[in-house]
Amino acid sequence: MAFLLKSLPAAAAATRPLAATTMRRAAMPAIMRSMSTSANSACEPDEPVFLQCVELYYDRAAKLSGVNPGTLAHLRAVDSMLRVTFPIELEDGKYEVIEGYRAQHSRHRLPVKGGIRYSEEVDLQEVEALASLMTYKCAVVDVPFGGAKGGIKIDPKKYTVDQLERITRRYTMELCQKKFMGPGIDVPAPDVGTGGREMSWIMDTYRQFNADDVNAAGCVTGKPLSLGGVRGRTEATGLGVYYGIREFLSYPEVQKKTGLSGKIEGTSVIVQGFGNVGYYAAKFFEANGAKVIGVGERDCAIYDPNGLNVEDLYKHHRSSGSFRGYSASAKILEDPIKILEEECDILIPAALERQIGLRNVDKIKAKVIGEGANGPVTPAAHESLEKRGVVVVPDLLLNAGGVTVSYFEWLKNLSHVRFGRMNKRWDETSRTKLLEVVQETAGRQLTETERKAVVHGAEEADLIYSGLEDTMIQACEETRNTANIKNTDYRTAAFVNAIQKIATVYEGSGMIFMN
Ligand code: NAD
Repeated sequence: MAFLLKSLPAAAAATRPLAATTMRRAAMPAIMRSMSTSANSACEPDEPVFLQCVELYYDRAAKLSGVNPGTLAHLRAVDSMLRVTFPIELEDGKYEVIEGYRAQHSRHRLPVKGGIRYSEEVDLQEVEALASLMTYKCAVVDVPFGGAKGGIKIDPKKYTVDQLERITRRYTMELCQKKFMGPGIDVPAPDVGTGGREMSWIMDTYRQFNADDVNAAGCVTGKPLSLGGVRGRTEATGLGVYYGIREFLSYPEVQKKTGLSGKIEGTSVIVQGFGNVGYYAAKFFEANGAKVIGVGERDCAIYDPNGLNVEDLYKHHRSSGSFRGYSASAKILEDPIKILEEECDILIPAALERQIGLRNVDKIKAKVIGEGANGPVTPAAHESLEKRGVVVVPDLLLNAGGVTVSYFEWLKNLSHVRFGRMNKRWDETSRTKLLEVVQETAGRQLTETERKAVVHGAEEADLIYSGLEDTMIQACEETRNTANIKNTDYRTAAFVNAIQKIATVYEGSGMIFMN
């Protein structure tokens, strides 16, 4: 892949790495005042911004965690923050200055890990909030990484593919130059507005600067398979959302609270955001017998109590750019956020933060809210939902499937071998031998289909899916146990578990002075 850096040379660009503490204290009040309005439509003006939401959730759990106050204070703060600005040349020969960020919240384990978001809403506090959540999320699912997040303040829809490539490569160059990237330092992944294409550009640019790094493929995850990606990464977050909700529905206490049967089959589901997380979550719910009755996007939402066909709807949306004209029987909601207020069993916000706040929380009718997105529910709304007996399965647990499979991809890149390559044939041969003995003893030959099912050795995709499922089941169970022991909600319980796990690393490593 060619190195296409057509923007101004590095020396001409204004780049400003900043110590996190300086940046946060100086910039926070202005940032809070200048919060974008679109992410606020569900919130009252005095509700906390995203970073404050995460901090409020953290503080609540910190009190229950039994962890040393020094460790708690250290863990709460963002370690370091990079802010860069750089120009790119537009079609008409004019230059536009682009703003990008990367926050590393906690380096108690390396590398740090977190997605890169392309959105006009990206700002300092959002990136810090997302980086913090990443730290806790990794701990909840026992992924041995610290948390990070990056973002570029652009609407990717307004740029050509060539411009997006130049922006991505230039941003990556800044990360490389400032040592904010590398397989053992900081490993980005896709988030809102980015995907496999951007990850390939990032990897290629990293390689230009680190030609002798034998582990270069591990500098970023969410890559296409042909460039070192892993099977199952694309759908991992949506699949994790499905696994997580399936687990919670199976708990008797959740069934009692919600009146649901405990099975996914027959439930009605609404999804907000039809991108990577929302689309795949909807697909897995549908494939397992749920009825997807509503989907919300930026411009409008679609609702049909008889059920929507997820794949057909997705194709229609991809080709026309809207849900309009999909079906005569479905209702179109001109104000897309209203989809959250429609009747359903399971509501999956999978778009942006702060979508359920004090302005709309009383109108939410779902029995279970599964946070596919990061931070979709504000603390006040969360409290109100809990009081009403709505089960909220929190982001740091439920959408951790993405980072879990990113971890598997990183392991694959560092080991330089596809999962299953070394043992598949061996497993199949051993099982065939065992089967022959069993068949002889039992006096019955299996059919060819039965035989294949028994001897089949695990392929990469089998191992990834099973690793993800096991991780989600275990993390859900741990969260549930803590919630029951501490008599608290699932969000607080997940935070408590994360804080306690990270504290053992902090305190064991001598990262803070212990009395
Ligand atoms: P994406 O860009 O693939 O999809 C987001 C979708 O939401 C887009 O289709 C967009 O048009 C839509 N959208 C934007 N604003 C909207 C609004 N106001 N109302 C309704 N829809 C709107 O992004 P994604 O990767 O699916 O991420 C979605 C959420 O999930 C984010 O909060 C992200 O941080 C979180 N998340 C993503 C991953 C991952 O692996 N991609 C992992 C964990 C968490």
